[in-house]
Amino acid sequence: MPCSRRYIGRFAPSPTGPLHLGSLVAALASFLDARAAAGAWLVRMEDLDPPRQPPGAAEAILRQLEQLGLCWDGAVLHQSSRIPAYEELFSELRKRKLCYRCDCSRQQLRAMGSVYDGRCREREQPPAGAHAWRLRTPAEVFAFDDRIQGPYRQNLEGDVGDFVVRRKDGLFAYQLAVVADDAFQQVNQVVRGADLLDSTPRQLYLQSLLSLPRPRYAHVPVLVNEHGQKLSKQHFAAPIDTRHPAPLLRRALRFLGQVPPIGPASGAELLEWAIAHWDARRIPRQHDLAANAQP
Ligand code: GLU
Repeated sequence: MPCSRRYIGRFAPSPTGPLHLGSLVAALASFLDARAAAGAWLVRMEDLDPPRQPPGAAEAILRQLEQLGLCWDGAVLHQSSRIPAYEELFSELRKRKLCYRCDCSRQQLRAMGSVYDGRCREREQPPAGAHAWRLRTPAEVFAFDDRIQGPYRQNLEGDVGDFVVRRKDGLFAYQLAVVADDAFQQVNQVVRGADLLDSTPRQLYLQSLLSLPRPRYAHVPVLVNEHGQKLSKQHFAAPIDTRHPAPLLRRALRFLGQVPPIGPASGAELLEWAIAHWDARRIPRQHDLAANAQP
């Protein structure tokens, strides 16, 4: 008999503030995609950046998810409890001479634009002071077929350059932690915001270096404000009042191309409808959205 692997999805918020409509869209899409496939839906708190995390934010997000009726499976995994696992992967990369120290200043990096030019790669003298660790990227194309955005490819060296796996302040970078934890939690379906589409080739590269399995990816469109910026805490997106889930779920569902029935319905009824009728093919691609698209 062919062996079919059960769907395991996840929502991985960074607790930099309460959920807003943009993060609700990612949470709901990953939840519905998992539940419609009778899969597991995990929540992982990406709490690796203490300076950006107001106290109580992680608990507030979990409370909001509960109020919305987005119930997760198992215990929440906190990345702050996973540092030894990241240390281990990082030391493997170091042992294999795949990373190097970099003390470029913010100003230098800004002047380089979006592609790191590799200037610390072959330095004779390692930096004396605080430094980040960058991973050498190959001049190789990393490609995958996104379930929503279609084929996507990047030449890592040319389009991104060597990227940071451990920051100057000693904290592990998102790219390393996310591949470690998707593998640790056996996540095989990643549904998240399209702002992370261009991070995916870096994650594929790390997975291939560390022999970790590659999940399938689906990047849902992100909500933008009237300036075309992603709705985010940095851009002061308004928190949502999850004590009244139905109107929020309705807006998020419409944004995801689903057509909930008109007429009064509770949050729980809407979710039940959405699980039964979930159609990921109806989700619009990011570039179909006008700069100020709002649900
Ligand atoms: N923690 C990231 C965020 O809140 C999401 C990471 C991911 O889904 O891979 O934007």
